[in-house]
Amino acid sequence: MLGGMQDWELRVNLLIDHAAREHGPREIVTRWVDGAETRTTWAGIRRDALKMKQSLERLGIGKGDAVATLALNHSRHLVCWYGAAGTGGVLHTINPRLFDDQLEYIVNHAEDRVLIYDAMFQPIIDRMRPKWPTIEHYICFDSGTHAPHFEDWIGTEDGNTEWEAGSERDPCMICYTSGTTGHPKGVIYSHRSTMLHAIASLQPSMFSMDTRTVMLPIVPMFHAASWGLPYAGAATGAKFVFVQGNDPQALCDIMQREKVTDSAGVPTVWLSMLQHLDATGTSLPDLRQVVVGGSAMPRAVIERFMRQGVRIAHAWGMTETSPIGTTGAETWDWGDKSFEAQVDYKAMQGRTPFGVEVRCVDLDDPAHVLPRDGKIAGALQVRGLWVIKRYLKAEADAVDADQWFDTGDVAVIHPDNTVQLTDRTKDVIKSGGEWISSVELENAAIAHPAVAEAAAIGVVHPKWDERPILVVVKKPGADCTADDIRMFLSDKVAKWWLPDAVEFVDAIPHTGTGKISKKDLREQYRDYRLKD
Ligand code: AMP
Repeated sequence: MLGGMQDWELRVNLLIDHAAREHGPREIVTRWVDGAETRTTWAGIRRDALKMKQSLERLGIGKGDAVATLALNHSRHLVCWYGAAGTGGVLHTINPRLFDDQLEYIVNHAEDRVLIYDAMFQPIIDRMRPKWPTIEHYICFDSGTHAPHFEDWIGTEDGNTEWEAGSERDPCMICYTSGTTGHPKGVIYSHRSTMLHAIASLQPSMFSMDTRTVMLPIVPMFHAASWGLPYAGAATGAKFVFVQGNDPQALCDIMQREKVTDSAGVPTVWLSMLQHLDATGTSLPDLRQVVVGGSAMPRAVIERFMRQGVRIAHAWGMTETSPIGTTGAETWDWGDKSFEAQVDYKAMQGRTPFGVEVRCVDLDDPAHVLPRDGKIAGALQVRGLWVIKRYLKAEADAVDADQWFDTGDVAVIHPDNTVQLTDRTKDVIKSGGEWISSVELENAAIAHPAVAEAAAIGVVHPKWDERPILVVVKKPGADCTADDIRMFLSDKVAKWWLPDAVEFVDAIPHTGTGKISKKDLREQYRDYRLKD
C-alpha cells in the first residue's frame, strides 16, 4: 500500500510562493550603507527572484550551477536566495572576512560560475579576479561602475516563468565553515533540510515567528544561512528589516522607526548595542525577542534583556547543523522557576527541538555514551533532519555509522536534557563570531628566532567573547618582548588575529603523547583577564 496523500517535493520555492501569495504586501525594508533606504515586499522579492532566474538562464546558468554572493544583508541578497535556488542552482554565500587564500580556495572548490557582490567589496574582486577562473560573470548589487548593476541585469526580464522543478534532495545553498584547521569545508544544505529547518524554527519554543513579527537579522546572510531566518520568515510572512552593516546607531534608529520586534545576532553585537543604548539613553520599546547564538551569551546580558521583558532565544548550533542544534526553549515548569533560575537556564545552550538529537560521549572512549547527569562533560555529538552527512567533495562521510556528527564542542547534559557547553576539543578561537585558527597563530609564532614553543588559546573578553593570547616558552638564552612577537606576527596573520597578550612561561603543559595540552592550558588561564 502507498501513502494516499499528496507528495510535494519540499523545495524552498514553496516558501516564497506562500509568502507572496498570503503575505504579498508585507514589507522588506533595507537600509544601505550610504544611509539610503529601499522598500519592497514579499511579492516583490518573488517577482525579482523569477526575473533573476530568467537572467541566470540567459547566461546559461541552470541546474546544479553555483551562484556566489559576496554581500551583507539586504533585499537584493534575499532575491538571490530564492532566485538561484529557483533556477535549480546552488547559492554559495561567501564570507567577505575570509583571507585571500581561503577566498581563492572556496570559490574554486565550489566552482562558482557567477558572483554577485556589494560595491564595498570591489577591492576584493579586483584582487581575486585572476585567481577565480571559474567565475564567468560578475554582477554588482549596488553599483554599475565595474560590473552590470543587479537591478539593470534583472530589469530587462518580465518574471513570467516557473521555478525549476526537481527533487527535494537537490542542493540549494553552500556555506563554508572555517571552524577547524586546514581548508574551509563546504556544507551543502538541501531543499529538504532547509524546509524542515524553517518549519521547525517557527515553533513558539524556538523562534516563535508569525506575520506580526518584524525581524531585523543582524546575523549576516553569509553565516549559516542567517540562521535560517529568511526562510522561516517567508513561511510566516514576517516583515524584514535589513541593515547593510552593523553600526549600532543605524541599527537602533531603524529598530525604533520600523518597530522591530525581533532581532538576531552574536553576543558581541548585543554588547555593543547595549553600550550604545546606555550611552545615548535610547530604548527599544517594541523589542520582544532577541535570538542569540554563535558563542555563549554572558549571563548579565541575558538578565538585562529579560528584566526588560525581552524573550531570549539562546541557540547553539553550527554551520553543519543548518544551524539550529539546541535552543533555550522554556521548560514545562517555567512559571514555577524563580527569575534567577530562568536566567541561569537561558545562559545555557538549551534543549533539542524535534528533528535533532544530541548526546555526549566519553572524551577518551567515544563508544561510551555518558549519562545525562549534569556532571560529566563529554564530546557533544549531534544528528538529525538538518545535520550534515558529508562535506562538499569529501571522500567520506563526516558522521559515524549511526549518523552521529562530532561537533568539537564539550558539554554536560543535565537531567532535564539541557545542554551546557563547557569547552571545545577543536583547536580554534571564536572572536566576535569569527574563527581564529590557534594552530596557524602558533605556526607563525614558532618561526620567531627567540621562540622555543608557543600555544594560542582563547580567553574571555568582555566585548569579543574570546580573544587569543599566546603562551610562549623562550629558547634558552634568547630574549624578546611581547611587542617583538606581535610585531613579528603582524605581517603573517590578519590584524584581528594578533594575540591581545603574550605570556612568557617556563613550560607549557603537555599530554601523555607529547602534544600541547590545550585543555590544561585553558584551565590555567580560565580566570585570566585582559588588561583593557
Ligand atoms: P559556526 O559553524 O561558525 O556557526 O560555529 C559553530 C560553533 O560555534 C559551535 O561548534 C560552538 O563552538 C560555537 N557556538 C555556537 N553557538 C554557541 C552558543 N550558544 N554557545 C557557545 N558556543 C556556541
